[in-house]
Amino acid sequence: MASDHYSVHDGIAVMTLDNPPVNAMGHALREEVAGHLATAWADSSVAAIVIIGAGKLFCGGADVKAFGTPASRAEPSSRTLVKQIEASAKPVVAAIHGSALGLGLEFALGCHYRIAQRGAKLGLPEVKLGLLPGGGGTQRLPRLTGVEAAARLIVEGEPVGADEAREMGFVDEVVAGDLLPAALAFARRMASRQDHPVASRRLASPPVDPSFFETERKRITTAKRGQPAPLEGLACIEAATTMQFDEGLKFERERFDVLLNGTESKAMRHLFLAERAAAKLAGIGADVTPAKIASVAVIGAGTMGSGIAMSFASGGIPVVLFETKQEALDRGLKTIRRNYEGTVAKGRLAHDEAEARIARIAPTLDFAAVKDADLVIEAVFEDMAVKKDLFGRLDALCKPGAVLATNTSRLDVDEIARTTQRPESVIGLHFFSPANVMRLVEVVRGAASSAQTIVTSMAIVRAIGKLPVLVGVCEGFVGNRMVAPYAREAEFLLEEGASPEQVDGALKKFGLAMGRFAMSDLAGLDISWSSRKRLAGTRPAHQRYSKVADRLCEMGRFGQKTGAGFYRYESGGRTPLPDPLVQEIIVQSAREAGIERRAIGDAEIVERTIYALVNEGAKILEEGIAQRASDIDLIYVNGYGFPAWRGGPMFYADTVGLDKIYSRVCEFERQHGELWKPAPLLARLAKSGKTFAKPE
Ligand code: NAD
Repeated sequence: MASDHYSVHDGIAVMTLDNPPVNAMGHALREEVAGHLATAWADSSVAAIVIIGAGKLFCGGADVKAFGTPASRAEPSSRTLVKQIEASAKPVVAAIHGSALGLGLEFALGCHYRIAQRGAKLGLPEVKLGLLPGGGGTQRLPRLTGVEAAARLIVEGEPVGADEAREMGFVDEVVAGDLLPAALAFARRMASRQDHPVASRRLASPPVDPSFFETERKRITTAKRGQPAPLEGLACIEAATTMQFDEGLKFERERFDVLLNGTESKAMRHLFLAERAAAKLAGIGADVTPAKIASVAVIGAGTMGSGIAMSFASGGIPVVLFETKQEALDRGLKTIRRNYEGTVAKGRLAHDEAEARIARIAPTLDFAAVKDADLVIEAVFEDMAVKKDLFGRLDALCKPGAVLATNTSRLDVDEIARTTQRPESVIGLHFFSPANVMRLVEVVRGAASSAQTIVTSMAIVRAIGKLPVLVGVCEGFVGNRMVAPYAREAEFLLEEGASPEQVDGALKKFGLAMGRFAMSDLAGLDISWSSRKRLAGTRPAHQRYSKVADRLCEMGRFGQKTGAGFYRYESGGRTPLPDPLVQEIIVQSAREAGIERRAIGDAEIVERTIYALVNEGAKILEEGIAQRASDIDLIYVNGYGFPAWRGGPMFYADTVGLDKIYSRVCEFERQHGELWKPAPLLARLAKSGKTFAKPE
């Protein structure tokens, strides 16, 4: 028991939660707290107790890695600690700075009082791991805040700031300056009160409008399709209004255990741990440290360039934004301003902060202005000749050691690198659209990219709050390469008898944010059309090929932006509407290909499209394009709308069973031919009873 974690200040005991990096409530920390509490209670000179966090925060929650293991419930459990605190005659004050999340907040809710520093974030994000707060939070919070505020925290999982928490009723005082002196003064005041410190468990059940739960249940069922955790969280809050406190706690524990053992929570915890795993780079030692990136240049102020510039400006890094034409530059800047102003209008960003971010972006038509940047990212047209020319000029201009990155979606990063004298400094940084919003960035390591270039790129992407995943060079890298067979099967299904709305409906029911065809209408059909044309020569003549998308493009139907694609759109509208003309094109295309149309069920749609993803994912893994299966899951969930509660395509495949998937893929190969050739890795794992998660 480290004594520097316990001290007494003029009658107030202070204990410090110190378990880096996030003071997670692991077993050792709980034992230490129990010991300090016993010391404080036994010491007659102590009138009150303050619990505070070491380092940057109060407490980030439970130890996620220990979930479901005996250590997570070993005594003293956090429930036992809270029970002891609630029984204490000496008031216990949680002094919160940085953040109090999950079990960390539940522990604070179990204290008699909470005092928080301005800027602190308080929240119950368990729902994001497919769980509910299982440490009494669902019973204590509604007693403090009422059911509506509690539902907001528990069902959405978004934290609130200290001031808002005070308004909601679960923080007693907000401190602008130093936390500890304020907490000591507060504790001293509370200790001098005659009445017993109020534990939230003793508060009455919260009052509630009976229609609230029914309305909220309906909303969640639609908004959080397929996810049991938000509904279970709500059921626990409802229990707080109908059950005795201890009965409610028991109910909460039961519902927590059901979720903990369910696939959805396992999937979401898998993704949580996958983010940590993605930071580990095979073959690169800890001695390679990232170079400092103090300034960035973005080439091209189109859709991607302006979003990328915003991402760096928002991350506090000055950006030079270069364009060849004034009007293109103006257009880009207008988009940037509009986006920031939109965020201000929604109340999510202060006006001054928006202006400061805009001011960090220096627009220019002068190519020489790029020369001092530590990192250059090009987002010019997807045309190899244009990119090669540009990299040749960047090579001549930029300072030695600068990272030269391309945002290409699918072109060969190695070919681009070879146009320079410094291929070791060239890398792909594949942002997703809209780049100012999407977290995912595929960091595409070229054959010659140096360890330093890779490490620096991963670090700077993380520094601006995004999620970097390292991938290798191939057509479309990981994400877009996997989309290809998925889209191919979706289009074959049209010819075989399905309609775009039926395919999209089945995929949405499966949990995807958007169906395949609504998605391509949104992204623009012209993009994939141009890559199909580019790759036409590599396609064997005998191979099946659906011409439906090409026909639509030849008619100028590029999707939402032209008012028509696989669907039609009312003028200015974004709702996809079935179009009889598209149906005619599909039927015609099937006839020409000699395909007899038949009724197709939702199950076949899901298997044909999702198993195509899985089979391609297995090839990607075996080729070493992705470092691990969980990286593929991260990419697909964060970049392509795959439902997090299914854990990503590779995790999903493991839950279905690779033997089952393999046998369906073999069947599809027999029915539909060589495009369904099973990935050797899939065959091997299926036959040996292994999984993508544990292939060895
Ligand atoms: P865009 O057409 O919206 O923008 C390209 C911009 O580059 C234009 O403003 C153009 O004026 C400018 N430009 C062209 N040549 C230039 C040069 N030599 N120097 C400076 N500026 C030049 O295209 P976009 O959608 O932003 O795509 C840009 C890149 O990002 C492409 O490689 C694309 O494949 C990739 N990408 C696009 C998306 C997407 O969804 N749009 C997603 C990921 C990656």
